[in-house]
Amino acid sequence: ARQFTRPLNDLANQFNVLLSAVAGAERVFQIMDETDEFEQEAERENLTLTEGNVSFEQVSFGYGSERTVEQISFSAKRGETVAFVGPTGAGKTTIISLLARFYEPDEGRITIDGQNILQVRKASLRRQMAFVLQDTFLFSGTILENIRYGKLHATDEDVYQASADANAHSFINQLPDGYQTVIDSEGGGISQGQKQLLSIARALLADPAVLVLDEATSSIDTVTEVKIQQALKRLMKGRTSLVIAHRLNTIREADQIVVLQEGRIMETGSHEDLLEQGGYYAGMVRSQFQQGSTAAV
Ligand code: ADP
Repeated sequence: ARQFTRPLNDLANQFNVLLSAVAGAERVFQIMDETDEFEQEAERENLTLTEGNVSFEQVSFGYGSERTVEQISFSAKRGETVAFVGPTGAGKTTIISLLARFYEPDEGRITIDGQNILQVRKASLRRQMAFVLQDTFLFSGTILENIRYGKLHATDEDVYQASADANAHSFINQLPDGYQTVIDSEGGGISQGQKQLLSIARALLADPAVLVLDEATSSIDTVTEVKIQQALKRLMKGRTSLVIAHRLNTIREADQIVVLQEGRIMETGSHEDLLEQGGYYAGMVRSQFQQGSTAAV
């Protein structure tokens, strides 16, 4: 597990839920440290959430002089799931980072409910988003505190309820110290899969309109995996979900699949549409998923 050297309160002000790894906490701090950014923020309006519809319009972006993603367009309505698939380096994480405003597009625009995300306060944007990422962001503290991080004013009862909905309550109660179990940099003796359940509980508590998921590629025991899938279903219901997907089941059930390669959208459509088209995705399904439905992309 990774350790964080800066105080978490900085982040807690900005985020309901922040799970590190891909997005990189360092990058968040980097942006937050820019003071004129801070002043501009004060003049912006808060995001007005009506539905949670997300739209990318011809978005292009590069970390340096080279373009990393080019002409990305898609939209996702409330309750819909968009799955991003493609090889490592295709730009999946970059797209998510742009939505969270870790970076700003060089061209094009990203809107939520018609509002350009660059023109609203970052805190109000991130309040509507939860991240459930592969490398779960847990900090030194009790399990209770770690879940409550999703909504700082939540009561203990709210935390227990979210944990129950996330299929986490029973394993937490089986720990000798229950919700008071201290998580440290070694993880406090809980498994990778259990950490994911905690991050789902945290996201349920935060109750955001927009959900960002980065599916685990590492193997998790079957029983916990079933719990995770069930909890994720509950979490995704009624929200706009953007998923960096590795499991065929998730991809197959998505309303829309966006197939990326070298920063461009190769093709997009439902699983059936794409199989019928017989293009890149169809080939990928044939070659990668033959061993079974949980094989990683
Ligand atoms: P994916 O999530 O599909 O694996 P990424 O969005 O992480 O792809 O990466 C797309 C490309 O951008 C890769 O070539 C990667 O090396 C590059 N990249 C990602 N993050 C950074 C960064 N912070 N600075 C420079 N290049 C980056």
